[in-house]
Amino acid sequence: MVKIVVIGSSSMDLVVTSDQRPGAGETVLGRSFKTVPGGKGANQAVAAARLGAEVYMIGCVGDDHYGAAILENFKQNAVDATNVEPVTHTESGTAHIILAEGDNSIVVVKGANDHVTPHYVKKSELLIKQANMVLIQQEIPEETVEYVSELCQELDVPLLLNPAPARPLSKKVIDSVSYITPNEHEAAVLFDNLSTESALKQYSNKVFITEGKAGARYFDGEKEITVPSYTVEAIDTTGAGDTFNAALAVALAEGKSINESLQFANRAASLSVTKFGAQGGMPNRTEVEASL
Ligand code: ATP
Repeated sequence: MVKIVVIGSSSMDLVVTSDQRPGAGETVLGRSFKTVPGGKGANQAVAAARLGAEVYMIGCVGDDHYGAAILENFKQNAVDATNVEPVTHTESGTAHIILAEGDNSIVVVKGANDHVTPHYVKKSELLIKQANMVLIQQEIPEETVEYVSELCQELDVPLLLNPAPARPLSKKVIDSVSYITPNEHEAAVLFDNLSTESALKQYSNKVFITEGKAGARYFDGEKEITVPSYTVEAIDTTGAGDTFNAALAVALAEGKSINESLQFANRAASLSVTKFGAQGGMPNRTEVEASL
């Protein structure tokens, strides 16, 4: 079993479905409401655990009932949350999602996720040192991503950065991480003065650009390769990126080649879009292997 440490956000998604999206100053009647655990960090931790890794989450929740529910969800999914601290007098991160007129609108309140600071992460340095792979995203403070990229380099632990949501990153961070997985939009923000072709070439075997149902692209040192995804009937693509990143981290940590790892990640992510919900659709190891 490989050991994966995820450093990132944990949130509660508050999801309303409605026929209509309210405009400014307007009130409409919704159809349904539910709360589901989310946050890119938590989603990736759950996905990696379902795929058979030993997963440790480093993050923060609030001292509210959402925080307790998020911790319970980690437990249910066999994610070790010893290093997820409830922060006093702070609310948990929340995402307020309206699903209406065939599209979603989302307001994210970072809450306790802002407490995932370099100082906080440093307390788990020993755990990080023992990891086969560290997985991080950008729903936590920017300085934490910078700190973790330096720390992992110093400790010689591979780091996979999922640069979502998009924000510009210093060349130093891009140079120090082992792998980086932007979607097309995030790639445009990251490499603003480079075409995706030149970015892939400059960071061969490191940058993997995901392209939805088309799969993922990278440069292997000699040529550009597209690893196609699998054709499925997509029901809900929420969490596809999270499943992809978790699966890629697990496969690379297990020592699979880049190409094999991308196939594994594409397969896992394609299965995830066939069911509702971010975590709801995340497949287990047997399901992925049976369909490879
Ligand atoms: P998210 O919607 O979760 O934010 P993302 O924008 O980060 O995702 P995408 O490039 O949309 O990332 O998708 C990530 C991976 O998920 C793809 O590389 C692919 O393997 C898989 N995937 C996404 N959509 C589909 C689909 N419709 N059919 C099959 N596989 C898909």
